[in-house]
Amino acid sequence: MLPGVSEDVEAYTMNKVAIVGATGAVGQELMGCLERRDFPVSELVPLASPASAGKTVRFRGEDVLVQVAGEDSFTGVDIAFFSAGATRSRALVPAARAAGALVVDNSSAFRMDEDVPLVVPEVNPGDLKGHGGVVANPNCVAAILTVALAPLRALGSIERLIVSTYQSASGAGAKAMEDLIVQTRDHLAERPVVPRVLPHPYAFNLFSHDSAIEENGFNGEENKVIAETQKILGKPNLAMTVTCVRVPVLRAHTESVHITFDRPVSPENAKRALESAPGVRWVDDPAANLFPMPVEASGEDDVLVGRVRMDGIDDHSLNLLICGDQLLKGAALNSVQIAEALTATHTQDA
Ligand code: NAP
Repeated sequence: MLPGVSEDVEAYTMNKVAIVGATGAVGQELMGCLERRDFPVSELVPLASPASAGKTVRFRGEDVLVQVAGEDSFTGVDIAFFSAGATRSRALVPAARAAGALVVDNSSAFRMDEDVPLVVPEVNPGDLKGHGGVVANPNCVAAILTVALAPLRALGSIERLIVSTYQSASGAGAKAMEDLIVQTRDHLAERPVVPRVLPHPYAFNLFSHDSAIEENGFNGEENKVIAETQKILGKPNLAMTVTCVRVPVLRAHTESVHITFDRPVSPENAKRALESAPGVRWVDDPAANLFPMPVEASGEDDVLVGRVRMDGIDDHSLNLLICGDQLLKGAALNSVQIAEALTATHTQDA
């Protein structure tokens, strides 16, 4: 049970739940998480773009009609999950709030707003306190990363992070996953490979993350990971550098992490802290050369962590490898965990 989440499931009231972006990669997983975790949903309102009007989504064994998202979509809605990009969140979150819904936003629209908590429930559940009705779900790399870093705070203060990512297609949405499959088929059949969603050939290739390069030379994804990790850990001045790379993996992101502490540390103590940590699965079998891998992390709630070792340079620094299903812990699962915590708090306060 996560800190801040009521054990008294019966304390939950039933909720009318809207999902903006219900037809997308994260939206589909959101419905799966709500079902799996038996979240108390009295009515589901799946919302998407006009292109999805008339389609249905499957929820709890029934087909539910998708509606076009608009300002009038939130009447009577208790909880609205937003998963349709920052532009849609900026346009429609005010309408959802005006209708009285609690909002869990998967987009980057409000993550760095001072009055909006950015929460990973295993890491900073206390930040939910005093929320103003909108809680932001972090960037997927930052969410997975902080789950693995949180237990290591027991070893000392984290002073510096160097992170390199190996990011999957699913991080760019359902169409990017489809594009990788089509490109791979075309490549194997010796047909011309035409990128349709991401900017470069993707099958049997990798490239610097597709977000735009910003003024400081980092791309948008790297800047998000830095700012959001600092916010989630409550360390705005944490020294941090990140390189984000897209690899031809369908699902689950991998991250190579170098951590420097304010004091000497040992891999044994790191292992001890990680093995029992919430949201972490220790995957480390040196004899079999078996460490976290996307195929193992896909569909898993836990973030896989292993290959913890001294960095070979100084006695304050560790290397580790982590891998997490970013559609789950990086998005849908984390959002539902936030909603569980919000609902419990809401009910206790009422
Ligand atoms: P996706 O697979 O491309 O899905 C996008 C969803 O947004 C679809 O349901 C789409 O509906 C809907 N949408 C697009 N335009 C819309 C409009 N004008 N009005 C209403 N709905 C509209 O993308 P995704 O990967 O699920 O990502 C969704 C959001 O989650 C993004 O903000 C992303 O940054 C965030 N996020 C994603 C991940 C990840 O790992 N993928 C992780 C964390 C956060 P149609 O099907 O009708 O087009």
